[in-house]
Amino acid sequence: QAKAQGRNTLCFFDPAMQAAASARSALEGDIRLGIERNEFLLHYQPVVNAAGHRMGVEALVRWHHPQRGMVSPGEFIPLAEQTGLILPLGQQVLRMACTQLAQWSQQPDTCDWTVAVNVSAQEFRHPDFVKRVLDALRESGANAHQLKIELTESLLLQDVEDGIAKMRALREQGVGFSLDDFGTGYSSLSYLKRLPLDQLKIDQSFVRDVLTDPNDAAIACTIVTLAQSLGLDVVAEGVETEGQREFLLRNGCHQFQGYLFGRPVPADQL
Ligand code: C2E
Ligand code: MG
Ligand code: MG
Ligand code: MG
Repeated sequence: QAKAQGRNTLCFFDPAMQAAASARSALEGDIRLGIERNEFLLHYQPVVNAAGHRMGVEALVRWHHPQRGMVSPGEFIPLAEQTGLILPLGQQVLRMACTQLAQWSQQPDTCDWTVAVNVSAQEFRHPDFVKRVLDALRESGANAHQLKIELTESLLLQDVEDGIAKMRALREQGVGFSLDDFGTGYSSLSYLKRLPLDQLKIDQSFVRDVLTDPNDAAIACTIVTLAQSLGLDVVAEGVETEGQREFLLRNGCHQFQGYLFGRPVPADQL
């Protein structure tokens, strides 16, 4: 097809595309090296209840790149997913989160905290996923009941039966499951009912304008009601103002996460 367009448009040699491709493979190599050199670390963001009390944290990966400084996941998770590097990276994330959880469980102020870990489609679909989680728990000595795994709707839609089986296997050991960015995917309600979940997280895109956009307000309130009907916890993500918190609380949401309560920071700065 490229040939048919004439010799000057051979798309493989398009300089812009070639530049993009080599930037990608440079980044891929950097990620690979970064995993070997332990350049990835976790920041933690508090999740609070209605009284403002910390119930736990979400672990969010960061890359301390030797030249580029601190890099956020949006810049490397997509490529890590495309290249399969998310598997070793995800394993490091799980190990680090479980090790931190085990440490917190030794201290009176933090002993009942939960730690939530984000998991990508590829990690979850891997046949060894359940084993990897259980290994990370066992090796760290962390309590499975204090570990939550955050999945997304699209990830779960890929192979529903396999996903449910994995969730059941881990839930039997005490691990909790949360549906992240809820409302942005396409899951049907009948399907949602079948999933062995513990929690829904209202996506921050509905929280942002919850006070000014009646549609966002309606969606946020519907998610709260849905969670209540299904017997699930509900957490609002991206809460930045007291007004948003107050509105959500008044409408039945009792757990919050967002800059209002704290940004993601290293464990020792929490
Ligand atoms: P997420 O799991 O939905 O995480 C919430 C994101 O919202 C985080 O961005 C967090 O820093 C940001 N956030 C929290 N509170 C507020 C707020 O009040 N306002 C605004 N504007 N943003 C807020 P972050 O850390 O850049 O992570 C982005 C996404 O990358 C995460 O979205 C998650 O999907 C993915 N991710 C992060 N860590 C991991 C990981 O260890 N493994 C995998 N597979 N994905 C990860
Ligand atoms: Mg998350
Ligand atoms: Mg989210
Ligand atoms: Mg997300």
